[in-house]
Amino acid sequence: MAFKDIAGNVRVRRILKLALERGRVPNSLIFGGPDGVGKSDMALTLAKTLNCRTLTTDSCDECPSCRAIDSGTHPDVMVLTAEVRDVKIEQTRLLKQMAYLRPMIGKRRVFIIEEAENLNEPSANSLLKVLEEPPDFTHIILVTASPHRLVPTIRSRCQTLAFSPIGREEIEEILIDREFSPEQARILALLVEGNLERALDLEWDAVRALKDEAWDLFASLDSADRSCLFLERFGAVPKAVQEEFGGVLELFSSFVRDMLLLREGGDPALLLNPDFEDRLREASSSWSARRLLGVFADLDYLLVELDKNMNKGLLATTFFSNYGELRHA
Ligand SMILES: [Zn+2]
Repeated sequence: MAFKDIAGNVRVRRILKLALERGRVPNSLIFGGPDGVGKSDMALTLAKTLNCRTLTTDSCDECPSCRAIDSGTHPDVMVLTAEVRDVKIEQTRLLKQMAYLRPMIGKRRVFIIEEAENLNEPSANSLLKVLEEPPDFTHIILVTASPHRLVPTIRSRCQTLAFSPIGREEIEEILIDREFSPEQARILALLVEGNLERALDLEWDAVRALKDEAWDLFASLDSADRSCLFLERFGAVPKAVQEEFGGVLELFSSFVRDMLLLREGGDPALLLNPDFEDRLREASSSWSARRLLGVFADLDYLLVELDKNMNKGLLATTFFSNYGELRHA
């Protein structure tokens, strides 16, 4: 994959290309940002470009060097993956030794450390010197979804490039290219919150099932005898269910947003849930705009708090009780 094929993160790509044009790619880099947004692809593409035999500001993906890096057989490019939740001290020692050796066949040595937040203290310490004063021909890229978990002494020695989630529309386009219908693409893109990798992994049937379940829960909030279903599901949440909580809330939020759209006579072509148009229309007729806006704002708040790793059970309980009050709005 070349820079031109990587989705999203235009700013990061621009910075890297500029650095490549000027021949001044930083030797110690942190690629930080959420999962599934292409950090590892970007790191590998940078490694390929630094060693490419035909191009200078992108990888050609065809020369022997690019191919060897893609197949993991290039002796100057090493990817360490923290499979055991920990990059082993021996690996970082090896890295440290190799970092000072001139590249064997390529132009630059590149070390990519995945899940760098799992570097334990001895490993991190052993890297400090090489991160501080790497040889010109060596680049070390620390890839992490939690840059704040890297020790400050490592962070201060590296230049950090911050990656962002991939835009919803861009994910939609990629999914449509992969033979999903525009309607399915819209629904999937909504669910994954900018995580392109997850979008490409999702199975349409599983998503359908999750949507149906989310709708049942949503509808139950207004039903006298079933209103506690939501709390039973998310109030005292076991961890497995917690994982789904964010996705269900995203869906709730999309339901309410669609109900507002329909209530205000908006264009149904703009619905996030075109497959639910009938039930959304029916539900929206009994809601006041004030209540819809109130619940929408609540969900928005909840999703922001969720990102901060707040107690999900407590958030669910608070949402539930606010929802009850808004019923009379
Ligand atoms: Zn090449």
